[in-house]
Amino acid sequence: MVLFSGKHPCLWCQVTKDEIYVDPRARDSPSLSRDLDTLKANLKIFTDIYHSDTKQQSKAMNVVDEVFFDIPIDQVIKQRLLVYDLFI
Ligand SMILES: [Zn+2]
Repeated sequence: MVLFSGKHPCLWCQVTKDEIYVDPRARDSPSLSRDLDTLKANLKIFTDIYHSDTKQQSKAMNVVDEVFFDIPIDQVIKQRLLVYDLFI
C-alpha cells in the first residue's frame, strides 16, 4: 500500500517517498530538515535554475514562493513551557 504520493512527502524533512518506509536508523544518510534556510535555498533553485517553471517545481522540493514568516527559530517561545509554568 502506498501512503505517500509526493516525491518528498514529509513536512519536516526532505526524505523521499521511497526512503520514508525505511527505519531512520537504517537509512544511508539522515534526511535534511526543512527549515527557513533550506526553504530559501530551494526557492532560489526554483527561480534561478528553473525560472519559476511550475512543471519543474518538484526538483526544488515544491518550494515556489516566499515563506510566510521569516522569524529565526530561536525567537519562538515554546507553548509547552507556558503550560508547564501553570503547574508550578
Ligand atoms: Zn521527515
